[in-house]
Amino acid sequence: MTTVELPLLPLGLGTDRSSERGVECPGDLPAASDPDLVSRARRAKEKLGDRVFVLGHHYQRDEVIEFADVTGDSFKLARDAAARPEAEYIVFCGVHFMAESADILSSPEQKVVLPDLAAGCSMADMARLAQVEDTWDAFTDAGVADVVVPVTYMNSSADIKAFCGKHDGAVCTSSNAQVALEWAFDQKGPGTKVLFLPDQHLGRNTAVLELGLALEDCVVWNPLLAGGGLRAEELRDAKVILWKGHCSVHGRFSVEVVDKLRETIPGIKILVHPECRHEVVTKADLVGSTEFIIKTVEAAPAGTSWAIGTELNLVKRLADAHPDQNIVFLDRTVCYCSTMNRIDLPHLVWTLESLAEGQLVNVIEVDPETERWAKLALQRMLDLPGKSHRD
Ligand code: SF4
Repeated sequence: MTTVELPLLPLGLGTDRSSERGVECPGDLPAASDPDLVSRARRAKEKLGDRVFVLGHHYQRDEVIEFADVTGDSFKLARDAAARPEAEYIVFCGVHFMAESADILSSPEQKVVLPDLAAGCSMADMARLAQVEDTWDAFTDAGVADVVVPVTYMNSSADIKAFCGKHDGAVCTSSNAQVALEWAFDQKGPGTKVLFLPDQHLGRNTAVLELGLALEDCVVWNPLLAGGGLRAEELRDAKVILWKGHCSVHGRFSVEVVDKLRETIPGIKILVHPECRHEVVTKADLVGSTEFIIKTVEAAPAGTSWAIGTELNLVKRLADAHPDQNIVFLDRTVCYCSTMNRIDLPHLVWTLESLAEGQLVNVIEVDPETERWAKLALQRMLDLPGKSHRD
């Protein structure tokens, strides 16, 4: 097995564009204390007019969302970008894999820009192409590769999506993971196995709670161990092989806090994202994507109490927008996604002003071969029948 070492890149030093951790941010950022940041962003955006389209992921800071032309989850934003071919620049306020997806789905003339290259995703970095290729070799040696269909969550790098495209697999989102897994199980006959990348929790929650599989049908493949850390019979008997990856934000929510909140706030409903751990999801009242969480709160009557298990910027925004409801964060400590939070007003101002002056910065470009296969995996997702109830 090839050892895959990720170089140590302290923030602000060096660049690794092959991973989510491109950290170098060139250029002179305006000071965070500059009182004119808001007016500078406004001026630069006005100057660019229709040439720029700013996308804001739900987990972004308020100061950034203020300048977003549209907000949404990663897949909705990539499609929004594709629907605006007249925009020369797509400024993606989100993380690296999202900008890659926008580049794949937008036209070749459009330039996708990530305001801070340090905005990666730790979950996406948990599945590296060389590791996945080694895993496939191990499946071949074990005689199971012919019946494995790889399905990757949107939260993965473009080369992992391309790997799935090349190996008869597909991409999924947290909204359509159920139909994607059902589709995958139909691909290679009765003995089909699914390799689910990179989020073990979304894979397990979908397989068990939506498809009705047993927990024992799922095994965890640890890419850092020989043979994934599995015995040959465990691999042979498994229906779902879960990649050992997780979201560092959603992995924090715990059953202890769920229990405590139920004790202290009568009638509180627990609403969580399926990236949370299985024991948290099974204790929740409702589970769904960020779009589902937003719609659920919007439709709830005044006086409803919610504890929400997703990124804190979104939870705070929901609480501010619905003062008639009691909305709390499902964690004792304040925890933002640190990489999402890399995009702040100084980076956005620097990006917009650079573009307005004709200087292209932080362009995210997927190479044509990777793009071709990743697009195929994305297209298979778009062709999936029906929709999950979470939409
Ligand atoms: S919230 Fe989790 S999955 Fe989303 S970008 Fe941050 S680390 Fe990645």
